[in-house]
Amino acid sequence: MNVLVINCGSSSLKFQLIDAKSEEVLAKGLCERIGIDGRLTYQPEGQEKQKTDKPMPTHTEAIQYVIDALTDAENGVVKDLGEIGAVGHRVVHGGENFAQSVIVTPEVKKAIEECNDLAPLHNPANLIGIEACEKLMPGTPQVVVFDTAFHQTMPEQAYMYGLPYEYYEKYKVRRYGFHGTSHSFVSKRAAEYLGVPYEATKTIVCHLGNGSSVCAVMNGKSVDTSMGLTPLEGLVMGTRSGDIDPAIMEFIAKKEDLDIAGIMNVLNKKSGVEGLSGVSSDFRDLTDAAEAGNERAELALKVFAYRVAKYVGSYAAAMNGVDNIVFTAGIGENDGPMRASICEYLGYLGIQIDEEANKVRGEEKTLSTPDSKVNVLVIPTNEELAIARETVALL
Ligand code: AMP
Repeated sequence: MNVLVINCGSSSLKFQLIDAKSEEVLAKGLCERIGIDGRLTYQPEGQEKQKTDKPMPTHTEAIQYVIDALTDAENGVVKDLGEIGAVGHRVVHGGENFAQSVIVTPEVKKAIEECNDLAPLHNPANLIGIEACEKLMPGTPQVVVFDTAFHQTMPEQAYMYGLPYEYYEKYKVRRYGFHGTSHSFVSKRAAEYLGVPYEATKTIVCHLGNGSSVCAVMNGKSVDTSMGLTPLEGLVMGTRSGDIDPAIMEFIAKKEDLDIAGIMNVLNKKSGVEGLSGVSSDFRDLTDAAEAGNERAELALKVFAYRVAKYVGSYAAAMNGVDNIVFTAGIGENDGPMRASICEYLGYLGIQIDEEANKVRGEEKTLSTPDSKVNVLVIPTNEELAIARETVALL
């Protein structure tokens, strides 16, 4: 069965058509500038990317162009819509309603809508994508896979904040965590790769990309993760601050005459390694700048590594030990010097890294030496494949 995997943002839509049996990507692409003008990037497997400007007033037109491209007589990869067996949608926030992926029903859509307040930038866009697919592909089953679902196994001591309890009762203020599809995929794959039972191993996954989070996976279950009610908490990220003293918000608001929206904008978009360095949110630019002697770029890299190491340490404590530490996503998969900087803090866990192995980029690899007490690995993430697998498993 071919599964169309859709990841809908407010003005963009990423897609992949995956043959679920062979797990091959038949075609992939991106619709950008939805609601502004519209551009489709389409790439059938093994061929060049094709970019075309197309009017996309809404996500419905965008999805129609995706379907047209996939079924095109010349460049398409399937004959007609009948060859697309299901659609798997990435949905950011499932709140406490969803601990698993589900088939879309009117009740499911309502429950996703109820989480709009928790992810105002993402959930409404995700719902629009689902409804556009329902309209254009009637009869094709739609499945939603939540970024938060994997973390619903966290114990209450991990997900409750030290706030008045009534905020949890009234508004469901708690830690949810994100990147769940990636943390689940990568931790499972790490166990397979090592040939150990997933249900009996302690793994810390460091998903280090533009958005970054760490997750403690104990015996196949997420028991803690660094992102919280929203994806702002935890690590220092590309442009997000991660953990700060909450009192900084009032202090800066007064000094800079900002309201709460202004402060949130700073914390989400002007902070992180970009805010610290004044250079970029991209680790390639930061590394180049640091090598050229830019001290703030060097500082940003040091702060990033230190924060990751602190989370790894706290999750080793949370699980009373750790068997495997896995690096994934853009930085985790590609940035050997950053992985080495993080591991330098972890000698007390008995971790030893093979410098030669740590040169790897974007491939599954063991980085630790045979006598290291903890396995350190790179496992590339593949959220689209994980969504396609979930979709087929559900159907
Ligand atoms: P992601 O969000 O997983 O796509 O990761 C994107 C981030 O990965 C980029 O912003 C870069 O900072 C980082 N990245 C990608 N490739 C490399 C590389 N070769 N070396 C260092 N960082 C990289």
